[in-house]
Amino acid sequence: MKTITVWSTGLNQSACMRKYDFNVNQLRVPHTSAPSLEKGTLVHLAAEVYYKGIMKGVRFEQRVAEALDEMGAAASSTGLSSEDIVMCHKTMKEYFDYYRGDPLVPIAVEAPFAYELAQYEPDEDFPEGLQIIFEGKFDAVFKNEQQDCILVADHKSGSRNSEPSGLSNQAMGYVVAGQQFGAKRMMMINKIGFQKTLPAEKKFVRHILPYSKEVLHDWVEWTIARAMYIDRCQESGSYPPDFTKCDEYSGCMYKDVCLAPPNARQGILQRFFKVGEKHDVFEGEE
Ligand code: SF4
Repeated sequence: MKTITVWSTGLNQSACMRKYDFNVNQLRVPHTSAPSLEKGTLVHLAAEVYYKGIMKGVRFEQRVAEALDEMGAAASSTGLSSEDIVMCHKTMKEYFDYYRGDPLVPIAVEAPFAYELAQYEPDEDFPEGLQIIFEGKFDAVFKNEQQDCILVADHKSGSRNSEPSGLSNQAMGYVVAGQQFGAKRMMMINKIGFQKTLPAEKKFVRHILPYSKEVLHDWVEWTIARAMYIDRCQESGSYPPDFTKCDEYSGCMYKDVCLAPPNARQGILQRFFKVGEKHDVFEGEE
């Protein structure tokens, strides 16, 4: 049976298939990561060690110390300034103190999943049959001991107090896949803010994004159609650009590549981008 695998960042990149080719197929990424991404990675690491400590029954003081130690060790191989590293340390210490005695108990942490969105019998287009899989990694799945319910959660760090959007491939896909844990049709965005002047209750906010069955059904249908479109591009080796996406957010990182003549693009990609890591949510899993 043929399998097409999609994941949230891959789906996002597929908004422009040329970008998908540069990023997902050729793995071309900038040489340096933005500080916000590096800080986010450190926050995720500290949260992972801390919540895994709860699952192993490690006492509070020890799991805080282990989480901060591991974060500190990892920080030394980033390009972050000492001021940013100190801020990550202070923020996570404050976060752990704020949620001490939390009714949300982790039942899975940094847990990879592969969820089958659809399976089709052999037909003319796919003579060997077709299966479409959505992959990802839950930051955490929590059981709320007080309300007796299960929630999938994503940690989001940052310095701004923005409302998260429910219409994201990651949130909707994770809620769909969370059903295998018996999770409710909702996503918890666990905001971890770096603002120096705000009190803990304004920096550490848990947003709940609820979904109807119909909205999740829409997402599944769209994702199946998009997976087949990506597959058609891969099979044909044709990756059409979408120039409506070039200026989105702060601008596509491949703008200079696309502005160059076609025969110069590979050289620019090789010179100004490094080869990043291949998507593999199960890497390191037994
Ligand atoms: S610059 Fe525009 S056309 Fe080029 S990869 Fe980015 S979004 Fe696609």
